[in-house]
Amino acid sequence: MIVASTADEIRKQVREWRVSGLTVALVPTMGALHEGHLSLVRTASKVADKVVVSIFVNPTQFGPNEDFDRYPRTFDADLQQLSNLQCDAIYAPTASQMYKPGFQTSVELAHLPQHLCGLGRPVHFGGVALVVSKLFIACEPDFAVFGEKDFQQVRVIEQMVSDLDFAVKIVRSPTVREPDGLALSSRNRYLSQEQRAAAPVLYETLVSMAKSIEAGASDPKALIEHGIKLISAKGMEVEYLSIVDPIDLEDVELVTGPVRILVAARLGATRLIDNIAA
Ligand code: AMP
Repeated sequence: MIVASTADEIRKQVREWRVSGLTVALVPTMGALHEGHLSLVRTASKVADKVVVSIFVNPTQFGPNEDFDRYPRTFDADLQQLSNLQCDAIYAPTASQMYKPGFQTSVELAHLPQHLCGLGRPVHFGGVALVVSKLFIACEPDFAVFGEKDFQQVRVIEQMVSDLDFAVKIVRSPTVREPDGLALSSRNRYLSQEQRAAAPVLYETLVSMAKSIEAGASDPKALIEHGIKLISAKGMEVEYLSIVDPIDLEDVELVTGPVRILVAARLGATRLIDNIAA
């Protein structure tokens, strides 16, 4: 497994593979790897011959009062976990390699970030779009795998790839959950025992809303009001619970076709997100 820390190094390696006729899939991560990330690596090894995992805690996608400083960094354990899978190279630049002094370029999308997580995290998706663009330019992958756990992020990336003509195919990988339904997240480790016991209510609520829709419920307002009650009853503060069009992420006024239900809520200082198709 090669560990590259500069764009030139990883690009050289990927170009060697591609010259030999091999395809390459990139899995962008911020490290602190768990089974959710590892499932993306497994997806990547199914779609391409070679797998590159990037590990980079990206400062530009964190707001000033967010958890950039305390975000878990577990590089040695991450390498250990990846060594058990088909991971052919790791790209792990430092922040100053990624953003050289005087850096001034941005990548902004006009509409998708104006919903859901983007409202409470105004700089987040610009930071994601910027770093993922840089990762695509450095790694030149044929495929890039993203988790549906971060549904708005996948949509932002898909739109950006289409808008900017990146020659990469985006592959969605399903959300990996604990046995009680809680979506795996690097931030779950912040939860106290009591908070951890309350957290599965997020997925339970999404499932119950999806079932109601399947059974014919079509009024988003009533579904959302009920869902907020269920989540709040467990001591969580709901940032949003929305039923949206799965492409443009606009709220739907009536459920008449496929929708996505997304939620963000806080348990103490920890912010959790989840989503489901309906
Ligand atoms: P992160 O390290 O949190 O930036 O996540 C890196 C990638 O892993 C993103 O594409 C996430 O959507 C994906 N991911 C995170 N948690 C999960 C999960 N529980 N199931 C599937 N994918 C996940």
